[in-house]
Amino acid sequence: MSSVPQQRLLRTEIPGPRSLELQARKSAAVASGVGTTLPVYIERAGGGILVDVDGNQLIDFGSGIAVTSVGASAPRVVDAVRQQVGDFTHTCFMVTPYEEYLAVCETLNELTPGDHEKRTALFNSGAEAVENAIKIARHATGRSAVIAFDHAYHGRTNLTMALTAKSMPYKHGFGPFAGEVYRMPMAYPYRWPTGPENCAEEAFAAFVEQAHAQVGESNVAAVIVEPIQGEGGFIAPAPGFLRMVADWCREHGIVFIADEIQSGFCRTGDWFAISHEGVVPDLITTAKGIAGGLPLSAVTGRAELMDAVHGGGLGGTYGGNPVACAAALAAIETMRAEDLAGAAKRIESIMVPRLQALAAKHDVIGDVRGRGAMIAIELVQGNGSKTPNPALAAAISAACHADGLVTLTAGTFGNVLRFLPPLVIGEALLNEGLDIIEGIVGRLA
Ligand SMILES: *Cc1c(COP(=O)(O)O)cnc(C)c1O
Repeated sequence: MSSVPQQRLLRTEIPGPRSLELQARKSAAVASGVGTTLPVYIERAGGGILVDVDGNQLIDFGSGIAVTSVGASAPRVVDAVRQQVGDFTHTCFMVTPYEEYLAVCETLNELTPGDHEKRTALFNSGAEAVENAIKIARHATGRSAVIAFDHAYHGRTNLTMALTAKSMPYKHGFGPFAGEVYRMPMAYPYRWPTGPENCAEEAFAAFVEQAHAQVGESNVAAVIVEPIQGEGGFIAPAPGFLRMVADWCREHGIVFIADEIQSGFCRTGDWFAISHEGVVPDLITTAKGIAGGLPLSAVTGRAELMDAVHGGGLGGTYGGNPVACAAALAAIETMRAEDLAGAAKRIESIMVPRLQALAAKHDVIGDVRGRGAMIAIELVQGNGSKTPNPALAAAISAACHADGLVTLTAGTFGNVLRFLPPLVIGEALLNEGLDIIEGIVGRLA
């Protein structure tokens, strides 16, 4: 466990005076396009607590956007990083390689779904992994079109902005975007026009029809999908939808890419969220939770696809940095040793019933959904109306922040509150965070 005291403590208003001073420096020094959800400056963090520069201790329901699943100062990660920094910080794997990179690739080949022969390549950010997965799929198939979905989020670089669905803030004013990207309906049970029962079948039928009519199967290199959509609002596709899409891809020689950047690494109660659907993806992109907070990302997939690219065709100066690799090995070891997949399931078993009970009392909570420690509530106008209520989501989130609970919003309509606690959070803190949410929803609903 972390040495950071596992207790919420408010010494000042949130944000406190020191944080406000730093925020004034931010305004003067940092490009204003780089936003902050909560202008509380952090000094120390670990387990389920963030300690700010004013000495406040906040409960963390964000994990730095699903990154610090093992905690923000997990002992194995800290030790491994210290050791590796002392040995060497960088050589560039493409110049003079090192064993840590191999060990991460071997581990990913073993942990990702499917017992086929696999290969992995390492990068720095999630967006970079997605870009490379598309490069590999195009090279291997000799085709150019890529299909993504409504509510998708795949990053902020040019190609990944094209794949991302939401305009504001991710794409607005940043075009033109990369071409040959096509968007198809997502099987979104809560908002499916005819209701959730036939959502998977009807969404798949629309997908097949549009892919055929607007793109043509033989032009499609890849379909990319988040097994549970992250920034889009923790939308879990209707059961069966992903399997039908994956089967359709196989039938047409199309690469099925699971973007597990947010949902991977025990977050949903399994190593990867796609396993809950019994689907084996051709390629899988990972990042966020992979390395306990250090920047690392990967593409893992079928050897024949990964090896289709010519030597020297993939890489990058920092990709698979040795310090990040050491952190990843230690983070994965922590997930194994502490059964963090089991921990994610326990978090679900505490959060979901409490949030469902809250939704039963307040009809502005239209939906409670997600898996493991990736849980969200969707806020609506209520009184039978499913009209999104982003103002209420923002108000609840702001009130949580003032009470020392870090929460994030999400969703195409900005009306989803999402909860991503570190998997190592203690039950007392988890319940205290839920108490805060219950109190605030009761007050504001
Ligand atoms: C965060 C995220 C990305 C982009 O990752 P970055 O490291 O921010 O580039 C891509 N896909 C999904 C599903 C994500 O959640």
